[in-house]
This record gives sequence, structure tokens and C-alpha cells, in this order.
Amino acid sequence: SKTQVGFIGLGNMGNPMAKNLLKHGFPIIATDVFPESCKEVQELGAQIVDNPAEVADKADRIITMLPSSPNVIDVYTGPNGILKKVKKGSLLIDSSTIDPSVSKEMAIAAEKMGAVFMDAPVSGGVGAASSGKLTFMVGGAEEEFTAAKELLTCMGANVVYCGHVGTGQAAKICNNMLLAIGMIGTSETMNLGIRLGLEPKLLAKILNMSSGRCWSSDTYNPVPGVMEGVPSGNNYQGGFGTQLMAKDLGLAQNTATNTRTPVPLGSLTHQIYRMMCARGYANKDFSSVFQFLREEEGQ
Ligand code: NAD
Repeated sequence: SKTQVGFIGLGNMGNPMAKNLLKHGFPIIATDVFPESCKEVQELGAQIVDNPAEVADKADRIITMLPSSPNVIDVYTGPNGILKKVKKGSLLIDSSTIDPSVSKEMAIAAEKMGAVFMDAPVSGGVGAASSGKLTFMVGGAEEEFTAAKELLTCMGANVVYCGHVGTGQAAKICNNMLLAIGMIGTSETMNLGIRLGLEPKLLAKILNMSSGRCWSSDTYNPVPGVMEGVPSGNNYQGGFGTQLMAKDLGLAQNTATNTRTPVPLGSLTHQIYRMMCARGYANKDFSSVFQFLREEEGQ
């Protein structure tokens, strides 16, 4: 029979991911600072413990799915962190989207304890997490990739090896920067066309058969009523929060600064998403930038 797998962080994404590991027959030992988050997987048979150190005491393969860099630092290196009790040879996989330099620090700290750390952030939202169709971008020692893949394929349709530790985060941050740029471009374009008298559905149809077409125009259109089954049709509820997008754009900015890489549109996009957070959009889907632009427009 399969040995226990540790899972730390049972939020919007961690919950369905842990459920898919259970479905594939992996016994789970889990923890979350917010006890309510543990209820559903506990009812499905997962063992719940008090803190990450206790998870590491029992499991030699652990997945973490936490909001941001400070939470990851706490869960790995804090007073009740994984590294306090980690077993030699353990495989530690972090699927949170965080700063790649923090992934590198965690890998060095893990190595000192005889364990292996890999970064494996995901693309695809809560829907893809539930249906086991996530894409994992994996960074770390290539000889450990097969062992990581055994777990990640239970939760994802694509598991891609990117290179040394931190490169999974790099791929994730680059994708989200382009996604945000494309979303704002689509939103301002749709708004201009509407104000010029074009019917929104017709404008979207023309863009999608022309060279302006992108994911934000053809699968996640930000204009209410253009498409069904997307957050714009549901008052921008669900989906991928503006606050999380602002965090990812901030990470892209940090890495661009550190490597002296010009990212002018990435910078502007970051500022726009930060302004939205301050104006009540933090928990709305990131496509609500269309609504934000409508509020900003001149009368
Ligand atoms: P979330 O806030 O819903 O879940 C995070 C969980 O971690 C929470 O349950 C929280 O209580 C727990 N946690 C925080 N600190 C902890 C600690 N010290 N010890 C134990 N548990 C702790 O976030 P989410 O939407 O599940 O996202 C997780 C990560 O995945 C983020 O980095 C996010 O950017 C990324 N991501 C999210 C989506 C999405 O659509 N939601 C898509 C792709 C990637």
C-alpha cells in the first residue's frame, strides 16, 4: 500500500488538490492554520495534525500550497516548520506562487537537513484543481523529477520540467505577467469599441477572427454578456482574484529589477492592479479591470 503524503495549506486550491491525491489512493496527513479548511479532507479520511513539523515527522513526501512567500518561509523554517522534523531523503514540493529567490533559499535550507526541495507552481484555477487538470511548472534537481511527477500527475494534466530550482516560479510569473497585460489590453479595447458604437458581442467576434485575438478575448472575455460561464457574467465572482494577480505582478517586478530587465508594460499593469485593490476590487476576479476602466472614463 502507498505511504502517507503530507499536505500543508488546504485553501481554494489545496483542498481540491488533496482530494485528488486521496482519490488516487494516497493516504494524506495534512495541516492548515485555519482549522475550518481541514474539515472536508478530514471527512474523506485524511489525518489532521497541529503543525507542519508534525506532518514532516510522519510523511517523507510533502506538498505545500500557501498564499505567498512569508507563509512559505514560516511553514518550512519557522519554529514549528517542516525542517524542524524533516526526515533525511524527504521530497518537499512547494506549489505556491512565490518569489523564486525564496524557493532557492528553501532548497538550500532543505539540503542542509538532507532533504530535497522543488518548486512546482500551477496554472489553471480552482476548476482545473478540482478536475485534476492543472499544469505544473517544476524546478529542481532533474533526478528527483520522476518522484515528483508520480504525485503531481494525480492533480494535473501537464507536468513540465523547467530546470534548476526557482525556474518553475519563473515560468509561472512570466505567464501571469502576459496574462495581466493581455487582460488590460482586451478590456480597454472592448471599452473603446463599445463607446464607438460597436455591439460588444460583435466586436469580440471580430477580434477573435483577427490578429487582436488572445485568451482574454476568446476564452475569458471581461465584458459582461459576451460569454457564458466566465466571471464577467457573474459580477466577477470566483475565478482568480485581483489581489493574487497584484501579488504575482509584484513578483515579476522584483525579478525584473534584480536582473535589470525592462518590463514597462508589466510595471504599468502592476500599478493598475494595485490601484484596483485599493478601490474595492481585491476579491473580484482580475477581469474586473474592465469595470474599473468604465468607472475611470471621462464623462
Ligand atoms: P488560499 O488563501 O485560498 O489558501 C491558502 C491556505 O494556506 C489557506 O487555507 C491558509 O489558511 C493556509 N495557510 C496560510 N499560512 C499557513 C501556515 N503558516 N500554515 C498552514 N497553513 C497556512 O489560496 P489559494 O487560492 O489556494 O492559492 C494558493 C497559491 O496558489 C497562491 O500562491 C496562489 O497565487 C496560487 N494560485 C492560485 C490560483 C487560483 O485560481 N486561486 C491559481 C493558480 C495559482
